[in-house]
Amino acid sequence: MSQPPPAVDPLGSGHALRLDAVTKHYASPGSLVRALDGVSLALDHGSFTAVMGPSGSGKSTLLQCAAGLDSPSSGRVFVDGVEMSDGTETQLTTFRRGRIGFVFQHFNLLPTLTVLQNTTLPLRLAGKRVNRAQAVETLERVGLGGRLDHLPSQLSGGQQQRVAIARALVAGPRVVFADEPTGALDTRSAREVLALLQEAVRIDGRTLVMVTHDPVAAAHADQVLFLADGRLVGRLDRPTAATVADTMTRLTDEVGDRRVTEGV
Ligand code: ADP
Ligand code: MG
Repeated sequence: MSQPPPAVDPLGSGHALRLDAVTKHYASPGSLVRALDGVSLALDHGSFTAVMGPSGSGKSTLLQCAAGLDSPSSGRVFVDGVEMSDGTETQLTTFRRGRIGFVFQHFNLLPTLTVLQNTTLPLRLAGKRVNRAQAVETLERVGLGGRLDHLPSQLSGGQQQRVAIARALVAGPRVVFADEPTGALDTRSAREVLALLQEAVRIDGRTLVMVTHDPVAAAHADQVLFLADGRLVGRLDRPTAATVADTMTRLTDEVGDRRVTEGV
């Protein structure tokens, strides 16, 4: 008997993304790593959220769990009102490919596929008809209309990341996740990538969640969430580079103090 499709939960449907008490634990010999330790959040449609925190604070785990690339140990994730842990693996994969885009720090393009083939891959994997004109238009928007038949190795890092953005956007996702998308790029390429991601929010109304270490990049967001030790420890609305940098310094000191107090 086939299982029913993932249920639309009225509690989650008002938000583009909602996490309820999400934890993720990793077992390693002799210890348990709490990569996420009870994270709850709700993000509006069309919002841009930056996620910041020290290395190892759980930022990538948060994105992977929220995007359905990894499953939480406990808690619930709703994307566009649909609970990610419902349904079969196949239904979830189909859902993810239709509603979620992901941009990685190191681009993750397939080296043997051309720019156009990399871009249309999510459509082909989802079994959707590939609308070449639409894919070309997406690539033109990221400034790569003249590079359709190039291989990733023939492109600069910034260009490769722009292909990855086209790939993330081609299926018209509601939520786009980007994990340090400018982390491997020079300043100018980083600015271009940031502008494209911002356009996806401000012009196309997509919801964006972006991990970054850069206060200037974070200042493009509507709000910044701060993670430490797998927990949300701060939030800043309408950030500027200066207020982001201040908050980071303050939280780093506080977390350091708590670790000393708790003997961590
Ligand atoms: P960040 O992206 O903020 O640097 P991560 O989410 O990558 O942090 O990692 C959070 C914590 O979980 C770290 O302590 C990391 O070592 C641990 N961790 C992440 N992935 C795994 C894994 N696959 N197995 C074991 N531990 C992991
Ligand atoms: Mg990370």
